[in-house]
Amino acid sequence: MSREQLAVQKAREAFLTGISKPLEYRIKQLKNLKRFITERATDISEALRKDLYKSENATQMFEIIGLEGEINLAVSKLAEWAAPRPVNKNLLTISDDVYIQPEPLGVVLVIGAWNYPIAVTLQPLVGAIAAGNAAVVKPSEVSSHTAKVMELLPHYLDPEMYQVVTGGVPETQELLKQRFDHIFYTGNSTVGKLVMEAAAHHLTPVTLELGGKSPCYIDKNCDIRIACRRITWGKYMNCGQTCIAPDYILCESSIQDQVINEIQKCIQEFYTNDPKSFADYGRIINQRHFKRIMALIEGSSVAIGGDGDESECYIAPTVLRDVKSGSKVMQEEIFGPILPIITVNGLKEAIQFINEREKPLALYIFSSSSKVIKQMISETSSGALLANDCLVHFTISDLPFGGVGNSGTGRYHGKYGFDQLSHLRSCLIKKLNMEGVNRIRYPPHTTEKLRWARVFLLKQVNLARWRQMAQVALLAALAAFVVKGYKGTCIRPEPDGTDITDWFMQSHDVCSQSQVIHTSVQKGACVVMQRYK
Ligand code: NAD
Repeated sequence: MSREQLAVQKAREAFLTGISKPLEYRIKQLKNLKRFITERATDISEALRKDLYKSENATQMFEIIGLEGEINLAVSKLAEWAAPRPVNKNLLTISDDVYIQPEPLGVVLVIGAWNYPIAVTLQPLVGAIAAGNAAVVKPSEVSSHTAKVMELLPHYLDPEMYQVVTGGVPETQELLKQRFDHIFYTGNSTVGKLVMEAAAHHLTPVTLELGGKSPCYIDKNCDIRIACRRITWGKYMNCGQTCIAPDYILCESSIQDQVINEIQKCIQEFYTNDPKSFADYGRIINQRHFKRIMALIEGSSVAIGGDGDESECYIAPTVLRDVKSGSKVMQEEIFGPILPIITVNGLKEAIQFINEREKPLALYIFSSSSKVIKQMISETSSGALLANDCLVHFTISDLPFGGVGNSGTGRYHGKYGFDQLSHLRSCLIKKLNMEGVNRIRYPPHTTEKLRWARVFLLKQVNLARWRQMAQVALLAALAAFVVKGYKGTCIRPEPDGTDITDWFMQSHDVCSQSQVIHTSVQKGACVVMQRYK
């Protein structure tokens, strides 16, 4: 049996013991995960310095704080997330218990990427643990030092339930042959397709957190100085190796020079005149990616930077001007510190440019006009849209994080991560009494029964509005239906989409015939009682 098979088998056996069902167990594991990132903070920082030249503070700010927040949120909200979720009922199930019960899926495979190797690997694990799953964690081999630190995880977490498998493509492929209950993959779209193909073999559901080219439109009606500051931050952080980094700028040619000028000033302000010697400017992950990114510059005109040093995997913060849509740099996700500017004739053309391409993971727009922002929202699609800033939507746990189309499928963060890795089981608990109500559905299927079925199944039940009144009225209706059959007189149920309360209220022809006491409960009930008296 291979190492990969063994890991999956162990995780499954541990899961089947049922040990992860109680919430206390999950909370303990989540706290242990937090202890891992706290106690191993130095190991993690050193590894990320070696892998990506990240500074200690940058690691804390962009990898650890978000993860810690996700753990804290899961610990504090787990009881609420895992509790049965009551749902609206129809009239036929009004007296039943109807709810959604989140339950663990089983064994989840988490495949991480290298650019934020802690965050993109351990945040999905938070969702997996919170939802009560076992997990096999496969860190990216590309960020090899961080992967080594991740091997320490079993010293903190239940070592049977949570397995770490390190290795490269062959190991991942071996893992993908195994049967999982969910696969959570972060990485590029090409491998995403391989993951989905392998998952299809076992009908395993997948979450694919992919990337792509995230556009950034700068409207000429905005504070270009502020816009460029935020874009410079979003683009050059982690040396451009951020899945939601603005990939390219779209703007009118009249503001291109100003945009370049402002970005130049921000690069100097953030990274000094010599980013290469500056401690807070990162490096490209390896020489393969270095060569790939440098080659993307070819054929375009460099406005800022453009230089690199292969021996250090250093590429200067770079801006390309007047880039053509057919140029090399526009054919793939850049994932490096190169920022092309493509000029367009206003918003309409920018929207057309965006819509002619794959749906992006993030779409950025800078404008002072809410009309322009709204138009961008309504006429495009993307995993997320952010107006007048970059990246920060990632920090909001209440926003689902994920792509659409080519940029991914599925979502996570906060409760979305819990739900994504849970089975949301539909539960309907009936009692064995009230059998008469079921006459509506049993043969023979008469026209009268059909009319009642339309009432009971099509009328929307607004429980918040008429909880007490409805129950009395409906139980009376049901009782009447059961006891008297169809021999009553006045009411013809005519479902028309109105709330059934209104329907009862509007039946004046019936109510006015009786001595109605005008309480809401009796108003509802009178129709029914009158009908059957
Ligand atoms: P990568 O090379 O680390 O690959 C990701 C994982 O896939 C690794 O664990 C690797 O072992 C595995 N893998 C690679 N090739 C494989 C193959 N042929 N068969 C099976 N498994 C294989 O990372 P990457 O793909 O270079 O990551 C960068 C991409 O990830 C970018 O496109 C970026 O936008 C995207 N990304 C997306 C998010 C997000 O949250 N949406 C986050 C980070 C990165």
